[in-house]
Amino acid sequence: MKRIEIILGDITKLQVDAIVNAANTTLLGGGGVDGAIHRVAGPGLLEECRKLQGCPTGEAKITGGYCLPARYVIHTVGPVYRDGKQGEPELLASCYRNSLRLAVAHHLKTLAFPCISTGVYRFPKGKAAGIALREIGDFLVHHTDFEKITAVCFEEEDYRLYRQLVKKMGLES
Ligand code: ADP
Repeated sequence: MKRIEIILGDITKLQVDAIVNAANTTLLGGGGVDGAIHRVAGPGLLEECRKLQGCPTGEAKITGGYCLPARYVIHTVGPVYRDGKQGEPELLASCYRNSLRLAVAHHLKTLAFPCISTGVYRFPKGKAAGIALREIGDFLVHHTDFEKITAVCFEEEDYRLYRQLVKKMGLES
């Protein structure tokens, strides 16, 4: 399935319909990918985010992309990983599903995801990659007109895991 692309790089540089932000529940910016997105997008993004009044874990909200090359930003809040028994896998899957649902509702065709929850939220990288690729793969099977989903790995370890898994899961020829 060629509509899944795995890259090693910086999500803020991608010219796609929307990039997904691994935000926190306040939606008022933070570190990691969230900080990078706000830095490049500029103050207009924070201003729009303030009006959204936060976002619960597992859900997603959409804003403009401002100074980013991407037209939109879909902000989703991943779970903080504790022991894996607090619903973390289901919540992480919801992040992907709800982001994809918003993309469809806005007639978007290209989307890029970071490795949600695998930074300061400490979700084990292998497990998170499995959930991400399962949700992306299922979505593309059911949405044949969706052009491309890019999984953006910022760390070599994530990139290696995604490459291995995408082959193992038969998502790439
Ligand atoms: P979370 O709080 O959901 O764990 P983080 O931002 O701490 O979010 O980390 C999520 C992932 O985003 C990590 O894999 C981190 O390496 C990655 N990341 C950080 N900066 C960028 C960037 N500019 N582009 C893409 N991914 C990034």
